[in-house]
Amino acid sequence: MENDSPRRIYMDYSAGKPVDPRVTDAMLPFFNSSFGNPSSVHTLGQEAKQALQNSREVVAKLINSETPEAIVFTSGATESNNLAIRGTAGRNKSRGNKILTSSVEHMSVVNPCKLMIRNGFQVIFLPVDKLGVLDLEKLESELDDQTTLVSIVYANPEIGTIEPIKEISKIVHAKKAFLHVDATAACGQVPIDVQDENIDLLTMSSNDMYGPKGVGALYIKPGTTIEPVNQGGGQERGLRSGTENIPGIVGFAKAAEIAKNEMANESQRLTLLRNNLIKGLIEPIPYSYINGHPTQRLPDNVSVRYSFIEGESILLSLDIMGVYASSGSACAAKTLQPSHVLLALGLQPEDAHGSLMATLGRENTQEDVDKLTSIMPDIVKRLRDMSPLTPKELK
Ligand code: PMP
Repeated sequence: MENDSPRRIYMDYSAGKPVDPRVTDAMLPFFNSSFGNPSSVHTLGQEAKQALQNSREVVAKLINSETPEAIVFTSGATESNNLAIRGTAGRNKSRGNKILTSSVEHMSVVNPCKLMIRNGFQVIFLPVDKLGVLDLEKLESELDDQTTLVSIVYANPEIGTIEPIKEISKIVHAKKAFLHVDATAACGQVPIDVQDENIDLLTMSSNDMYGPKGVGALYIKPGTTIEPVNQGGGQERGLRSGTENIPGIVGFAKAAEIAKNEMANESQRLTLLRNNLIKGLIEPIPYSYINGHPTQRLPDNVSVRYSFIEGESILLSLDIMGVYASSGSACAAKTLQPSHVLLALGLQPEDAHGSLMATLGRENTQEDVDKLTSIMPDIVKRLRDMSPLTPKELK
């Protein structure tokens, strides 16, 4: 029997990406044949050690790291963020106990910062403007001699806004604090140069570049003082104990190599699709708005909101039609609270609730964009007809 169900349209790439088949191929030998432990002295162990070193070099190149040794492999962005914040603030507490961060961080930055507050640190969550850009004057005025660490997201995947990292870096370093940048969503989509942008610590994630989940890295600029969060066998220069996940790390490196080669073309293609999608989701529908910055935004990110209705109901309507999107970050979506990132833009909770987020990726085409923009006016109209919040003239 012929399958006449419509083609599935996946537009939730920031929540999860498929692994590139070239990555899977690179990983396979490290599961069954070359399975050694890089700490072993025999040939099989040395093979693994070599693969680890090669991977470190490739990931270092993606961000123009001074040396491969500045890369510490972790289990993903959450662990990298924890190591950066708890490890740097903890190691430098004799110099000061103040940490600055923004109000549009991922929970893997927010929660380690909250832990530091319980440990006696002072943490300031700096405001952003209504487009999601960090308030640089506030950053400058809050930075003092007690501030050892500033942690700012490169680009928040929920609203797409790219922060002015180079300017932030100048302000932070004028006060001799360390700058940690969570580049989970940005790395692999926009070119990042840790030397040119003068970043001290940078979080990266493999799956965000079409590598396997559960692998990431923290770049640590030589000279940055940091201590480990977990104690153990002393792998990764003592900063991340635990037997290295060699298949995962090899896959991450392959994904990083592909991203380096293909980023320019793919980001250009996605930016075009992104702009068309934003336009098509807003222009024909009254009381609809873009979330985040119109131009300083991630190539893959579309985030819009519709007054008087709920993002969750839009998602369910889309799901029935084979379109998979999101109403906020995958983690915030687990709670009924409106996302703290949308609230930080100054939105009222009821406005934040009407948000729809579509993150684009390699499989998406203009045809997908056309499909979504063609069905959205009817979906919004139907939900508004049912909503008690909708003013009479719109019904
Ligand atoms: N930081 C940012 C900006 C993220 O978007 C995410 C989620 N992809 C994370 C950190 C945490 O990533 P993971 O769940 O892979 O550890």
